[in-house]
Amino acid sequence: MGIFNKKFAEMINIVLFGKPGAGKGTQASFLKSQYDLVHISTGDLFRFNIKNKTELGILAKSYLDKGDLVPDRVTIDMLENEVDKNLDAKGFIFDGFPRTESQAEALDNFLEGKLMKISATLSLEAEDGILINRLIERGKSSGRVDDQDESKIKNRFEEYNHKTAPLINYYKRQNKFHSINGIGSIKEITERLIQLIDQL
Ligand code: ADP
Repeated sequence: MGIFNKKFAEMINIVLFGKPGAGKGTQASFLKSQYDLVHISTGDLFRFNIKNKTELGILAKSYLDKGDLVPDRVTIDMLENEVDKNLDAKGFIFDGFPRTESQAEALDNFLEGKLMKISATLSLEAEDGILINRLIERGKSSGRVDDQDESKIKNRFEEYNHKTAPLINYYKRQNKFHSINGIGSIKEITERLIQLIDQL
């Protein structure tokens, strides 16, 4: 195996999975430093583009404001572009992507073309009531429009149930799906994730 292939074979590429408010972004920032990975949050990328009023931001804004998913093609192109900018990484944490089956298929094909693959999908789990409370709390300080209105939060959960939940079986079929109890202190949850990643 050439140096190039060996490097990609050793990469850790993690999908952090979970409903809105599950703690993906919080945990990603700890895992990123623990394993020296590049953290790609599609939500953060959209918000960055919205803030800077780029063409992509202008397109994405109406979807984010309503709590709807941004169309797949737009999201997939943005994600691939971000991976391509970081090909020297030791691995990636995908946070908030994939969120639909066609995004998951696109990601698998894209990675395969680079001799890379997803190592595991780690799902942070907590009951809806807890998640909704967390989002409303976050909305008080984050300024996020989609966190400040219960109907928008409900819409995000509906988008999750219809479009994202099928990914559980998608990754189970690949034997890559792991559930993690997302209730506890931030540190406890990080430790649960680390324990799992270290066994990969
Ligand atoms: P949360 O997980 O709390 O909903 P995110 O920051 O991950 O927050 O996402 C915020 C919004 O960004 C979503 O409601 C959606 O509009 C858009 N978004 C993020 N990731 C994706 C994706 N993979 N596909 C489509 N839309 C996305």
